Amino acid sequence: MQEIHHHVAGARRVGTSARFADVFNPNTGEVSARVNLATAADVNAAIEDAQRAFPAWADTPVPRRAQVMFKFRELVTANLDALAHMVSSEHGKVLADARGEVQRGLDVVDFACGIPHALKGEYSENVVGGMDVFSMRQPLGVVAGITPFNFPAMVPMWMFVVAVACGNTFILKPSEKDPSVPLRLAELLIEAGAPKGVLNVVNGDKEAVDTLLTHTLVKAISFVGSTDIARYVYATGTAHGKRVQAMGGAKNHMIVMPDADLDQAADALIGAGYGSAGERCMAVSVAVPVGDKTADALRERLAPRVAALRAGLSTSTDADFGPLVTRAHMDKVRGYVDLGVKEGAELVVDRRSIKMQGYEHGFFLGGCLFDRVTPKMRIYQEEIFGPVLSIVRAADFDAALRLPNEHTYGNGVAIFTRDGDTAREFARRVDVGMVGINVPIPVPVAFYSFGGWKASAFGDTNQHGMDGVRFFTKVKTVTSRWPTGIRSGAELNFPTLK
Ligand code: NAD
Repeated sequence: MQEIHHHVAGARRVGTSARFADVFNPNTGEVSARVNLATAADVNAAIEDAQRAFPAWADTPVPRRAQVMFKFRELVTANLDALAHMVSSEHGKVLADARGEVQRGLDVVDFACGIPHALKGEYSENVVGGMDVFSMRQPLGVVAGITPFNFPAMVPMWMFVVAVACGNTFILKPSEKDPSVPLRLAELLIEAGAPKGVLNVVNGDKEAVDTLLTHTLVKAISFVGSTDIARYVYATGTAHGKRVQAMGGAKNHMIVMPDADLDQAADALIGAGYGSAGERCMAVSVAVPVGDKTADALRERLAPRVAALRAGLSTSTDADFGPLVTRAHMDKVRGYVDLGVKEGAELVVDRRSIKMQGYEHGFFLGGCLFDRVTPKMRIYQEEIFGPVLSIVRAADFDAALRLPNEHTYGNGVAIFTRDGDTAREFARRVDVGMVGINVPIPVPVAFYSFGGWKASAFGDTNQHGMDGVRFFTKVKTVTSRWPTGIRSGAELNFPTLK
């Protein structure tokens, strides 16, 4: 059985722990590898190694750090297919989708190639007699990222690419469900010219995470995962004096106005609701048609298409989506569909029990569609994270707007309409961090920043773009007076501009 360990000081490192977690092939349900779960001592060693690498890397001229990013971009591009295969084989998403994920990670590398520009400070000449003020952005030191299973390439790249370009050294603790691709990315970064110790990958579970959250040398923690863990990471990390950004779960609504192009809206719901088997934090899981006429027309378009969706092998080129990540997750999603039926929602398309010939032990679940879901139901309130879309009918625009606004989560939201006034009003009033207007998955491009509101994110700064740079740097402001010959006498009162 293949064993997956860690990447520390520029090389694979075998962990000291006797604890392992199973990694599955979601197509067959078989265990494909065992991943070592780091002990606190393993994590401490990685942190110390990153600390040793920090001063030289922070001192490396920023154009040189950008050159490493340019080379990394080249290497990831050359290895894109192999990386996508790795993602697909452990996560279960189909290859085309996995390629898209790696590409979105690469977009962050593109942004980081411009890091000299992003790190420029400010300068004010002669703010008062002979005195100039300037500011600079400096790296924090050793920083860490803890990432979820659903984007094992892209989410780590949101974090370590920006952090490392800013001059930090990084410890990545990826999801134990699909650990191979982050290890490969670490190798590629070293090959691109990053010194050993600049990016270390430790695999593990709560023990590894708690070590990172409490270690005094770790200055900042970036987390992406479910809300309960995000809340815990935020509370624990900040209690230990760290800067923390912690992104959590989601329940994303798509409002469909009566004037929307319903064919376009149906396309959007199929793609955003069922792509990647719904295992995306920006998946649309709630469709909100406004008015019964819109709801009936939309349902009529959706039902046959959901029923026809092909769940298939992640390696298949004609599958719409692949298996779920683990049996436990598949059972959880199926449990939510059972619950929805019990709660009184109308299960319009029921593909809970599909079987894949020859792959009976794979983690497959077909697409399901509910209608007449209400805000009181748990299937509405909680994140399902599977190929399940709920229709919640709203009488008018205000009732539709209240749904995302009153929901616990606030990651993404979309509105489909042909009316500019409605779209503008919606974007202004909706209490959600990322908004799409006729765009179902409004994940911001890499030079903007990604982040939700409410229970979808804790902390003040978002991922990547300039917010990523702000998160992974601190500002130093220097007030200087030249030439030294200027004398203003001893001033005992608090200095002012006068
Ligand atoms: P998860 O919360 O189970 O795991 C995330 C990370 O936390 C993993 O590295 C895991 O090892 C670690 N972890 C798990 N339990 C822990 C514990 N008790 N103590 C300390 N660490 C722990 O999330 P997941 O199932 O891997 O990912 C899916 C979730 O991530 C969904 O809720 C999804 O919405 C969310 N997500 C959010 C975003 C976003 O940007 N908002 C993006 C992607 C995924």
